[in-house]
Amino acid sequence: MARALRDVAYGVPDYALSVLRALEAAGFEAWVVGGWVRDALLGAPCHDVDITTSAHWRDAERVLDSCGIAVRETGTAHGTVTAIVGGKPVEVTTYRVESSYTDHRHPDDVVFVDDVREDLKRRDFTINAMAYHPERGLLDPHGGRDDLDLGLIRAVGDPRLRFSEDALRVLRAVRFACRLGFDVEPRTQEALARCADGLEDIANERIGQELDGIVCTGAVAWALAHEMPVLGVAVPELKPLVAFDQRSPYHAYDVLEHTMRVCRAVEEFTGGNASRELRWAALMHDVAKPITFTQDETGRGHFFDHPKVGARVCELLMRRLALPHDLIIPVRSLVRLHDHVVSPTSRSMRRTLMKFDKACPGRAPRLAFDLLDLKRADAVSKVDWVAGYAIELDGIELALRRELERGATYRMGDLAVNGSDVISVTGIKPGPGVGLILQGLLSAVVNGDLPNEREELLRSLQI
Ligand code: ATP
Ligand code: MG
Repeated sequence: MARALRDVAYGVPDYALSVLRALEAAGFEAWVVGGWVRDALLGAPCHDVDITTSAHWRDAERVLDSCGIAVRETGTAHGTVTAIVGGKPVEVTTYRVESSYTDHRHPDDVVFVDDVREDLKRRDFTINAMAYHPERGLLDPHGGRDDLDLGLIRAVGDPRLRFSEDALRVLRAVRFACRLGFDVEPRTQEALARCADGLEDIANERIGQELDGIVCTGAVAWALAHEMPVLGVAVPELKPLVAFDQRSPYHAYDVLEHTMRVCRAVEEFTGGNASRELRWAALMHDVAKPITFTQDETGRGHFFDHPKVGARVCELLMRRLALPHDLIIPVRSLVRLHDHVVSPTSRSMRRTLMKFDKACPGRAPRLAFDLLDLKRADAVSKVDWVAGYAIELDGIELALRRELERGATYRMGDLAVNGSDVISVTGIKPGPGVGLILQGLLSAVVNGDLPNEREELLRSLQI
């Protein structure tokens, strides 16, 4: 339910008001617009403030500058400058329309206009096409406020036309629906499915950003259930999961339905606070099932090596989408290890920590907990009789905590000897061999074959 306007009026932050007042004092018109208005009406936590104005960006720059407000030219081709007040950025954009789109992604021409209503018309969804002014109140020509009350994502104007102008809007619709827990209005939904192919013309990097936005809402399960035609174009590797029959006594659901349940379950197990890595891993963990599928003579399905192949597929697709390296590496490790056998022993926990530390130095403890949540979610999304494993995982998590509290040895740096010791005892030359020997010692300590004691480790090197 949208909040009363009265509450919104008190909410426009002073630093943004000073920008709006400066523009209006110089005779221009200015409004707060877009995401801030939407989120303020929803009572959602504060959001960057965007201002839309009748002033040409050059005039906006001049006026703000003369009021002592710092301005950066952040997107002047689109009429945008960014004012910085008290360290806070406020985007100021000239009222504009986009004249025509010939390639589904870039307006051929940005045309500045002098009517705010024209500017609101070019915005994507009704809930994003409202303007607010502390005295003039809410300007809502497309019924955005009603749609906030109804919980609907509705395109401004003809949805097919809007999605064919800019196919990225297709993914934006899914992202906003996930983030706000809204439904997509039926005509808009019909156009989403029809226009999703337009995403093929959108830069991978922009698709990656939107997709990451969807995953980070924690509601990607909803998107898998309702927007597969869109996700399947954005990430073609996900398409084969649809209705893929696992032919396995361990699985009551096809791969897509299973994946969806795992995505939902990681949120349940983490109180809706799953890490970004865990969210991505839940989405990707079985991505290679269709390509590794084999059937034995009884007709039962197997997916040998699917974690290993999946880790590779996942890495490649995340790289294609230009997602950050420090996200890709841990996600790849989680996918790789999701079927890795763990038990509530020190050895098993140290081995798990060592594997993560090797792939993602310094991040092993967090990732080990993520792995246990992923395994829990996986267990409750198969057949009922496998779900009990989730309880075993509670014991395993306890073992992990205990091991960490005890200061477990799982990194090379935890060893009681170092590279210089290896060189002086064995006489080998500095180089990669030293690292290999240390790695061997670490494995022996992690496996419990040697204690992490200097004398013992040095003695083992002498043999
Ligand atoms: P958030 O930043 O929280 O994701 P937002 O509403 O601020 O939400 P932005 O991507 O920052 O979203 O865009 C700001 C505003 O610009 C939107 O509210 C919308 O009015 C408009 N907008 C952004 N991208 C598009 C687009 N592709 N097509 C049409 N309008 C858009
Ligand atoms: Mg924004």
